[in-house]
Amino acid sequence: MKINILTLFPEMFQGLFSHSILHQAQQKGIVEYNVVDFRKYSKDKHGRVDDYPYGGGGGMVLTPQPLFDAVEGLREQSQTEARVILLCPQGERYTQKKAEEFAEEENIILLCGHYEGYDERIREFLVTDEISIGDYVLTGGEIGAMTIADSVTRLLPGALGNETSAVTDSFSTGLLEYPHYTRPADFRGWKVPDILLSGHHAKINAWRREQALRRTWERRPDLIEEISLTEKEIKMIQSWENN
Ligand code: SAM
Repeated sequence: MKINILTLFPEMFQGLFSHSILHQAQQKGIVEYNVVDFRKYSKDKHGRVDDYPYGGGGGMVLTPQPLFDAVEGLREQSQTEARVILLCPQGERYTQKKAEEFAEEENIILLCGHYEGYDERIREFLVTDEISIGDYVLTGGEIGAMTIADSVTRLLPGALGNETSAVTDSFSTGLLEYPHYTRPADFRGWKVPDILLSGHHAKINAWRREQALRRTWERRPDLIEEISLTEKEIKMIQSWENN
């Protein structure tokens, strides 16, 4: 997969892409990150990419020309109609489901804004998706682009050492993940649940499912409404509600 990032601050991505799983995924040829400074596409003689808003008001607005030219250049290079994803606090809220959807693509282009905003024609005529990473306002789209690049990469086959870990992650199953324990079995008198030491895999899986359900019911009841449950699980939740 190729993840293209259009930004005015390419250096911000160096740290993220040169460590850990994202670095290894590139080394293995699973993903390619192409970070492009879109200022170099500006046709303004001073390399400007923003201007004052028509109608007045504070802040600067990104002009359409550099971003249109950069996206068109990338699409031509890849010979694909790559999805163009605008990072924007007004966009659709980013979720694991969306990460799974993007991970199916061969090529995506992430647009990082800065300053007050974008010329509306970028939103109307260039982008295919608008994504917000949460209900707060950041200074730029870079942290959002990093969030997408990271969450999408770890879903690509071979990116994680252990293929099963992405499958059981919180949200992938529709539930928050069950609790984990490791050695020692007794730490300061706090013991690991016996079931995890039993070696009985079917019982361990049942325990984990129950724990995931319970944790989700306690912390994120909104997620429970989205998934289908067995009769047994519905009864389990009713018994928690009655206690
Ligand atoms: N004036 C804009 C508004 O009220 O919608 C906010 C502009 S913000 C200061 C500058 C840039 O940061 C945005 O264009 C966007 O790329 C990025 N950004 C800020 N908050 C974000 C969020 N929650 N999710 C994704 N991108 C965000």
